[in-house]
Amino acid sequence: MDAQAYFLATAAQPLERRPLSLPEPGPGEVLVAVEACGLCHTDLAFADGSVRPRHPLPLVLGHEIAGRVVAAGEACRHLAGRPVLVPAVLPCGDCPFCAAGRGNACPGQRMPGNDIHGGFASHVLVPGGPLIPLDQAPPGVRLDALAVVADAVATAYQAVRRSGLAAGDAAWVIGAGGVGGFLIQIAAALGARVVACDVAPERLAAAGRLGAEETVCVADRPPREVRKLLHQLARGWRIPSLNWRIFEASGSTAGQLLAFGLLGPAATLVQVGYAAGKVEVRLSNLMAFDATVHGTWGAPPEVFPEVLQLIYDRRIELEPAVDHAPMSALNRLLDDMANHRLSRRMILHPDA
Ligand SMILES: [Zn+2]
Ligand SMILES: [Zn+2]
Repeated sequence: MDAQAYFLATAAQPLERRPLSLPEPGPGEVLVAVEACGLCHTDLAFADGSVRPRHPLPLVLGHEIAGRVVAAGEACRHLAGRPVLVPAVLPCGDCPFCAAGRGNACPGQRMPGNDIHGGFASHVLVPGGPLIPLDQAPPGVRLDALAVVADAVATAYQAVRRSGLAAGDAAWVIGAGGVGGFLIQIAAALGARVVACDVAPERLAAAGRLGAEETVCVADRPPREVRKLLHQLARGWRIPSLNWRIFEASGSTAGQLLAFGLLGPAATLVQVGYAAGKVEVRLSNLMAFDATVHGTWGAPPEVFPEVLQLIYDRRIELEPAVDHAPMSALNRLLDDMANHRLSRRMILHPDA
């Protein structure tokens, strides 16, 4: 098998294209020929050295993989030849977390491009158990675009699902790019009234097209003022704070502070984004408000059929949120991402 991959050999250095040696799949493993792999901010954090992957370097990055199974181990024969999605979080499938439907928190989980070689490659070797077959996709839904479901879309869906959001609720989405954009689409598709908050006017314009009913530019606006504005909106809509679902997806400490400051009685805040810095908040507000704050990480395999159905039914549109490029453009795209020049999720295709 002539396989190639883009390796991170040294942090803060360009990825290097090298031959990839592939062992035969073990009984529970499959070899996937990569058709597409999405580019995530986590890849940039690994590439620029701000976060260290769990697997020692050199490592192939990329954890939003769609492809076709070209070799399957004994226990995965049913996947042979089929198009599949490789979830970003691959749980062990055999522990109390997995049994409880919390596989995304499984301590034995593996993540491509972090624990094992990832999808910026012609091929990837992964455990077969958590893979999601894609052969139900209707004509007109591009298989390669489904790559972003592995992380960006499924993470957003799981965040919404775990928040308990119902039709008629208010969803405040802090950070409208990337996962935030999908949060907006999903919350709106499920019948919530969505307000997007961001510092970038172009992301807010996009948020309007994705289903946000109101957009609020929070650049140079004190959090107190934003809070007042949103609370006024909720009053106008007659939605009590009991039915507020606040999603923090900005990846900034300013966004986190804003999100916490929006809490009201019995409101729910879900922490979706990652920022390395710390914030200082009065945790006792949770007591006073009887409020709920929780995190969310990836998505368990059980939710993928639900989220795919929303896409197959055209209730979530991927194409307006993604862009396609050849994998050989990886280093340039990482640079574009670092310099905030990307407004859509990039989907990379192996070339040559
Ligand atoms: Zn990611
Ligand atoms: Zn497990």
